[in-house]
Amino acid sequence: MEIYKSLEIFDCPRCGGPALLEEENGWCWYVMCMECGAQTIQFEYRRAEDRLKAAQDAVRIWNMGKTVSPSPGE
Ligand SMILES: [Zn+2]
Repeated sequence: MEIYKSLEIFDCPRCGGPALLEEENGWCWYVMCMECGAQTIQFEYRRAEDRLKAAQDAVRIWNMGKTVSPSPGE
């Protein structure tokens, strides 16, 4: 997938683990850490033209270290 290759994703700001850009059911993107489960909020897109921008936004927020903790029970 081109989007994955075109974006530079930093390691986890919390634990330094590897991060993964994930697409959720074709409507949003988020980045999550495979080690500790830290993740960004979800960046929704409504049109195909907005898909790349949403992915870029998710990665930019991740690279700035803005993560949320996974909520227990969800
Ligand atoms: Zn982590």
